[in-house]
Amino acid sequence: MTDTHTMNFGADVARLLEIVTHALYSNRDVFVRELVSNSADACDRLRYDAIANPDLLKGHDGFDIRLHVNPADRIVTIRDTGVGMSKDEMIENLGTIAKSGTRALMEQLKQAGAGNGPNLIGQFGVGFYSAFMAADKVTVISKKAGTNECWAWESDGISGFTIREATSEEQSALNSPCGTLISLHIKDDASEFLLEEKLKRIIVTYSNHVNLPIYVGTNEAEPINSASAIWMRPKSEITEEQYQEFFAMVSGSMGLDQPSVTAHWHAEGKIDYTALLFIPTLRPFDLYDPSRKHSVRLYVRRIFITDDCEGLMYPWMRFIRGVIDSEDLPLNISREVLQQNPIVHKIRSSVTKRLLGDLDKLSRDDKTAFTAFWQQFGAVVKEGLYDAVEHREDIFKICRFYTTHSDTELTSLNDYIERMKEGQDAIYYISGENVDAMRNSPQIEGLRKRGLEVLIFKDTIDDFWLPVVMDFKGKKFISVTKGAIDLSKFPLPETEKSSAQNDNDVKSEEGRDRASLVAYLAERLSERISKVRISDRLTDSPVCLVAGEMDVDLHMGRVLKVHQQFESNAKPVLEINPDHALIKSLDKMAADKTQPELLADAAELLFDQALIIQGEPLKDPSGFARRMSLFLGKGLAA
Ligand code: ADP
Ligand code: MG
Repeated sequence: MTDTHTMNFGADVARLLEIVTHALYSNRDVFVRELVSNSADACDRLRYDAIANPDLLKGHDGFDIRLHVNPADRIVTIRDTGVGMSKDEMIENLGTIAKSGTRALMEQLKQAGAGNGPNLIGQFGVGFYSAFMAADKVTVISKKAGTNECWAWESDGISGFTIREATSEEQSALNSPCGTLISLHIKDDASEFLLEEKLKRIIVTYSNHVNLPIYVGTNEAEPINSASAIWMRPKSEITEEQYQEFFAMVSGSMGLDQPSVTAHWHAEGKIDYTALLFIPTLRPFDLYDPSRKHSVRLYVRRIFITDDCEGLMYPWMRFIRGVIDSEDLPLNISREVLQQNPIVHKIRSSVTKRLLGDLDKLSRDDKTAFTAFWQQFGAVVKEGLYDAVEHREDIFKICRFYTTHSDTELTSLNDYIERMKEGQDAIYYISGENVDAMRNSPQIEGLRKRGLEVLIFKDTIDDFWLPVVMDFKGKKFISVTKGAIDLSKFPLPETEKSSAQNDNDVKSEEGRDRASLVAYLAERLSERISKVRISDRLTDSPVCLVAGEMDVDLHMGRVLKVHQQFESNAKPVLEINPDHALIKSLDKMAADKTQPELLADAAELLFDQALIIQGEPLKDPSGFARRMSLFLGKGLAA
């Protein structure tokens, strides 16, 4: 007998195990799914390694997973003929948390508090450690392919684990030149897992589409799963339910989510591949992970290659789940070189076209479903406007935006263009965080009144694609909060003229330059604004701020500041509404120089008001409050 080494778990593992073992589980079944999926991965890995090194399969009896129950000793075993683990790999893989999904789960647990642990575990799965939901002792016997050593890892899931050489009985129980045998001593309150029927049911639910046979029981001749690559079967032979099961497996959503779009096709011709791809209904938890990794699995002629082939899908398509199986790619190519393979890029291009086409069709055939999709994933899709330049036109086809044209419905750019006014050669937009605030924002008053439609961009990503994209079908995107807008081509309808306008000088254009007030404000606010000018875009409000012609747009400036990429020191332009009663009386005050203090307070108030509308913080809120009270007092006393 060789030495037995006792080791402690990493701190993360210990914490995870505590949650796993001490919470009450509504859904302990997940441990079977997790262990079976590890076994399937191990078989896939050996299959792949054996392409370069066929000797690894010497004496190998074929790939399968076998579950066995011994009720008398309360033992369930799961055995695979996969790649196996060396001693060091067992210490590394089963003693620390490497998996990103589990890490993310830990983060969520921290935020949600321990009480929500069980729910979250059901959603994320906790990989190998889920074994301790049902077992109070776990033994892992493993033999790495191409080696002769066989090691045993053992733990009660509390403080740590031991590692030693496997006994000869254990080796004969493994009964394969390589692979892993996991033996679980089932807890007193988890006896249901000692029933073969129960295990079979779990496997059919969660692992039916694992790509190799799974047997439960000793002399079972028939695998209990379908054990075939579902994506290679003709569409007509696959039921909705089977698609959903497969989705549950590849998305890890365990039936908590359904695919909103299922796309299954075979491409032939210049490139030959089969794809079975899903768009989930709900956002995957890691959608906004900075790595922006996609998780579509790449197979080559039914052999799993990787779920980490960066070039296979664009980052903006990272919400898509499923499988692509290529007939053309060489098998004996390293995963690293795969990225550069031109076939991979052709597949990406073809898949992207196809999915965008499907989504465009969905937008016409089922508006409700499409809108739901857009609400969940639209912001990510728009990343494609700068990520995937060659597909930009098709991406634009499915983009939808809030608009001043409708309070309830989103619009496409094509529809916007159809509604453009005669002589209009630009697409007007406003960008910010709050749709309702933007609808009411002073900068768009003048456009609305002239019947000019303004798109409302509310996603941070909009401020990133806009500077790159510039135009759509030759129409420039023009921000209504930046630069001077020339609206002289579009006269304001008489009936729409400002309510603040005073009838007797509406018609006379002279004297509308409010020169005294402009000069006064320019001087008074010179540190904070670049200039003051008479506005075209205001009809009801007295003032607003806009960015200078050559500067970063106001909202963009804020986004950049938040992302700490860049802080603009450009000062905004203050626009004033020459027809507003307040502006007119202030102009008069500035000309007469009668009440300098009152005018100074009014100037400050106007500027602060413009900042508030813009969502900008005030530099001196108490000064603002004091002046506000002063004016309120005067108003009430009058
Ligand atoms: P994940 O499967 O996401 O990597 P797990 O916690 O399920 O996370 O497993 C941790 C690691 O342990 C795996 O990545 C793998 O390297 C190893 N492992 C687990 N089960 C097996 C097995 N049956 N055969 C070979 N390696 C395994
Ligand atoms: Mg796993």
